[in-house]
Amino acid sequence: MRRLSLTFDNGPVVGVTDRVLDMLDAHGAPATFFVIASRLRDPQLMALAAQTRTRGHRIGNHTLTHSAMFGDIDDPAFAAQEIHEAQRLIGDLSDEDLLFRPTGKGGHLGPRLLSQDAVSALAAGQHTLVLWNSVPRDWEQQDSWPDAALASLEDSEWTVLVLHDTTSAIDELPRFLREVERLGIELRTDFPDDCVPMRRGRLEGDITSLVQDANGEEHPR
Ligand SMILES: [Zn+2]
Repeated sequence: MRRLSLTFDNGPVVGVTDRVLDMLDAHGAPATFFVIASRLRDPQLMALAAQTRTRGHRIGNHTLTHSAMFGDIDDPAFAAQEIHEAQRLIGDLSDEDLLFRPTGKGGHLGPRLLSQDAVSALAAGQHTLVLWNSVPRDWEQQDSWPDAALASLEDSEWTVLVLHDTTSAIDELPRFLREVERLGIELRTDFPDDCVPMRRGRLEGDITSLVQDANGEEHPR
């Protein structure tokens, strides 16, 4: 049976995340929400994240500010701040596996996604690094992203789908979930090994292609 792990990045956003939660409830669908942690300084958004957790979903760390890819910033303090301060703000809402997803501009899995400093900070924080294998570009294809997402379900045994609880693109989520149901695809809250190169701080996959520091030097580990 084909599998699907639903993930929502860049929230929470009032008027969007709450609607996503209702849509997921209507289908009994579990998901993981990778939050931009600086948003949680707003009590209303912190409450929305708390509600997300209470309603049975996983909360992951999607950096403090989502301002840059790690490989573009040549400041050793940047990665630690973006990872550890974010985790501090997420606090008790965090999933026990300390899920972390880096900022990937446009969803591209390339050499600037991580830096050696980021990998070290993730290891020190005992994080679980969650990547992805399907980005239907919901921010551009606001009406048609479900078609791209459904196509990727055809291509892969286990899809880790990146959506965003930030725009009206989520209006199409019920249509997508109905189709997922009709196709008998199993919804999962965990992730396939090839999307999780680090588990609880232990490097288990090959991240060579994702690590290149801002000075352009590639690291062979
Ligand atoms: Zn993001």
